[in-house]
Amino acid sequence: MRTIELGHTRIDKVTEMELLWMEPGWLYPTYEPWMAERHADALGPTLIDPVSGKLALSFHSYVIRTPGRNILVDTCNGNDKPRPPSMAWQHMLKSQDYLRNLAALGLGATDIDIVLCTHLHSDHVGWNTQLVDGRWTPTFPKARYVFSRSEFEHWAQVLAGRPGHRVGHGSFQDSVLPVVEAGQVDLVDAGHTVATYLDERVWLEPAPGHTAGHVSVHVQGPRGKAILSGDIIHHPIAFHEPSLYSVADFDRAQAAQTRRYLFEHCVDANALLLPGHFPAPSAGHVLRCSHGGFRFRFLDASR
Ligand SMILES: [Zn+2]
Repeated sequence: MRTIELGHTRIDKVTEMELLWMEPGWLYPTYEPWMAERHADALGPTLIDPVSGKLALSFHSYVIRTPGRNILVDTCNGNDKPRPPSMAWQHMLKSQDYLRNLAALGLGATDIDIVLCTHLHSDHVGWNTQLVDGRWTPTFPKARYVFSRSEFEHWAQVLAGRPGHRVGHGSFQDSVLPVVEAGQVDLVDAGHTVATYLDERVWLEPAPGHTAGHVSVHVQGPRGKAILSGDIIHHPIAFHEPSLYSVADFDRAQAAQTRRYLFEHCVDANALLLPGHFPAPSAGHVLRCSHGGFRFRFLDASR
């Protein structure tokens, strides 16, 4: 993804895992093979593999840079984290790609001022911590980690109700609580302003459904608006088949409502959408179709 410049504020993508081909029936429980056939032409072989029918997903963060603040949004899977067989792609990773890609943008771990997590699923909190001398240690030592209060409290209650349970496949214990214990977490309410510069602003909006306290990150500058949508939508096929819901959705009806609202808002505000798992170039615009539905047009990767 090329750098998105909204004024003095700019946004880049930081890739951890460029491409993972995922069984569609695992991600979307009501998925049917005819859906791939129906939308293969519209989506193309970079999004649906024409032989296996698998869906292309990417794991990446975005970094928003305002004058004075470097804000990292979502932190992917992370290294050295034990995960169950159903989450094999994130089990005990040993990759330097993520920190290397961050460094390629001129950013070291100590340059990150704020880490935002749209929600606290394991593939959005992984690089919050890394293993140092056998202890989970905040990867970004100078950062404030900003979490939605309702999201954090939801998972804390899950743990309180089942002591010893590996919440979020263990990610709550290895990637969230150590940062809390280090005193680096700020729990905030929806609407929270993360950063401002002149008339440019970064803030959180409630986007519940995928998880109880999921938020989206809105960025407004003189040259336009961008919305970092976390897991409100996982794959572009969901534009074409709006009945699909993710296996991980906490409240399907609310998730569908939030998704629909996001699409309408992107169209109305002509906002650029930056989802958490769309393959490169990842960002694009939502377009309204004549039949009342929506489709997605990726940004031209070459520009
Ligand atoms: Zn998620």
